[in-house]
Amino acid sequence: MCIFCKIANKEIPSKVVFEDEHVIAFHDVNPQAPTHVLVIPKRHIAGIAQAAPEDEAVLGRLLLAARQVAEKTGIAEGGFRTVVNSGANAGQTVFHLHVHVIGGRPMAWPPG
Ligand code: AMP
Repeated sequence: MCIFCKIANKEIPSKVVFEDEHVIAFHDVNPQAPTHVLVIPKRHIAGIAQAAPEDEAVLGRLLLAARQVAEKTGIAEGGFRTVVNSGANAGQTVFHLHVHVIGGRPMAWPPG
């Protein structure tokens, strides 16, 4: 079982921000900003590159959960970034789909 499946199953501890039947959001262990939360589907999907048509509902759920995370952590008003890294060039290191929700400081564009 992958590390994020273990977090979803509560076999590995995490600081949970938000959870429902389909998704769970928890603080990143190596935060890149004052607020850095990961939102994942509870069901294993390796990444956007592996997502299938039947994943459509949970993909939408992830972004709505990101919005709830932003509101709950107080970064919604100031602005925040949602990032999904896919594959080697993007720097994906954990192959269980996750949306980074990052905020609490100004961010440059484009990313490095
Ligand atoms: P990515 O590079 O987009 O695949 O992002 C993976 C993220 O998962 C990184 O920001 C890591 O800091 C984070 N991460 C890895 N293991 C854990 C963990 N056990 N709990 C919380 N975040 C983690």
